[in-house]
Amino acid sequence: MDDRNGTITNIIRERAKELLEKGEIAAFLGFTDGSLPMTTRPFVARSPKDAARLVWNDFCVMNLANYLPALLKSLEPKRGPKDPPPEGPLPRVGVLATGCWSRNMVVQMQENQLQRDRIYVIGIPSRGMVSRRKVQERFPGREILSVSEDGTDLVVEGKGLKERINRWEVVRDNCQTCVHPTPVISDEMLGEPVERAVTDRFRQVEEIESLSCNKRWAWFTEEISSCIRCYACRNACPLCYCPTCFVDDSRPQWVGKSIDSSDTALFHLLRAFHCAGRCTDCGSCESACPMGIRMRLLTKKLEKDVFELFGSEAGLDPNVPLPLTTYNQEDPEDFIITAGGDGA
Ligand code: SF4
Ligand code: SF4
Ligand code: SF4
Repeated sequence: MDDRNGTITNIIRERAKELLEKGEIAAFLGFTDGSLPMTTRPFVARSPKDAARLVWNDFCVMNLANYLPALLKSLEPKRGPKDPPPEGPLPRVGVLATGCWSRNMVVQMQENQLQRDRIYVIGIPSRGMVSRRKVQERFPGREILSVSEDGTDLVVEGKGLKERINRWEVVRDNCQTCVHPTPVISDEMLGEPVERAVTDRFRQVEEIESLSCNKRWAWFTEEISSCIRCYACRNACPLCYCPTCFVDDSRPQWVGKSIDSSDTALFHLLRAFHCAGRCTDCGSCESACPMGIRMRLLTKKLEKDVFELFGSEAGLDPNVPLPLTTYNQEDPEDFIITAGGDGA
């Protein structure tokens, strides 16, 4: 059996242990096993011994950039609001990065949430992560106890169950249309850069765009109808670091807290717009949703619009300003609706 993930796990453990032993980093952010089959959870190794708990597999779906700013802050010396900034270099963190996670780190740098010299990035060119939901759908009613990789297949095992399925078919939707699988920043790379020829990167959005206005609205309201407003999607997103999110504000209350359909629609639409020009389509929001809602398609639509209007993709270059924080005279403005104009 081809155990690529086992090999990568061993290298990660070894490198994290070395970096912690040498004092080059104060902590290492990666993954450990989750409490259920087909799950992992973010894990911070704070000692060389902890490094043995790190794992790498097809279900490392949470974007680690999400945890970096708070983790780095927690390692700084405690100080009051009037104390001067600490002198000397601050503790660094080692972190794993696929293509999209590294781009979210870049976005955090562009937004002054992260400093490059405080992270040691171990890049992993991504082959796409597997959707736990897609695997489960292949075996309705069966309890899956383990999934392992063998070449281009996954071997799915449970009580009275041992079957092979094609891995790519159960890779997450966002990974199937990913055009930047290789990390854009790294201090060392585990493996060769991956090239992926994707000719239809926006196909999932285009399917919905091709519908009439009424049918698009029907799609949207049906898609979000089971939302329980748990905010797991927001909490899993590295773009959502506002100290008080608009959904939690009560003065003013921008959006009601109920699961009334208009409140839920407003939450999803506003959150998607907050991510415009910043979203890397990492898919963490969708992977975190307990109800299987495909809210990622909203941010994907905005990714497409920003790409087509401004030729910009999030997180590719830390020295370029974010598209919606800058402008030039040539920016398109046909979408602005004016009284008496089209659409007025
Ligand atoms: S949804 Fe908007 S307000 Fe809330 S955390 Fe994300 S970016 Fe901030
Ligand atoms: S909105 Fe979703 S896909 Fe976009 S960066 Fe946040 S978690 Fe990733
Ligand atoms: S994670 Fe899913 S159920 Fe929870 S608020 Fe987001 S879309 Fe709704």
